[in-house]
Amino acid sequence: MKVNIVVTEQEYSYLHRKLFPPGDSNEHFGFGLAGINRCHGGCDLLLRKFISADSSCLLGKSGASVRPDPRFVDYVWTLAKKSSSHLIDFHTHPFSDINVSFSEIDDRSESESFPKAVECLGEGPHASIVLGKNSLDARWYNSQTNTLEPIDSVKILDDKLIIIIPTSSLQRRQILIERD
Ligand SMILES: [Zn+2]
Repeated sequence: MKVNIVVTEQEYSYLHRKLFPPGDSNEHFGFGLAGINRCHGGCDLLLRKFISADSSCLLGKSGASVRPDPRFVDYVWTLAKKSSSHLIDFHTHPFSDINVSFSEIDDRSESESFPKAVECLGEGPHASIVLGKNSLDARWYNSQTNTLEPIDSVKILDDKLIIIIPTSSLQRRQILIERD
């Protein structure tokens, strides 16, 4: 299944500013609430609202990790449930520039959090994005197979459409090209 994330340029600029505050090299975190548009063989997750986690919503942050307070997670999941939204979690790797990718710590924490999200909010799909300074990676949780799958593209709606291909999806496309 192809899953894309669609964001307006205004919302994307806003979340980028929140996630990369000037002069702050710590990781940052936030949640997106998304609607869904199902189409042939896949779907678009349409970001409706970005909720950034300020210091009061975090248990800790450094240049190498960020830990949201479970009370913040509960608050956002309740909002998601009430609004029948799909969840997109965002965090940053501020020291990555191009080709940012999820860390093993991200793999471990998301393999725990996604099944809980599905239990609480339904099968989604729910997604996550990690942002580097000039790149992003994104994936969604397939609850049928219990696997994390690459998001096909992130589309930013401006006067013209900007399409960002996440690192994992780029790598998968590269493998498919090399196989041909
Ligand atoms: Zn990470």
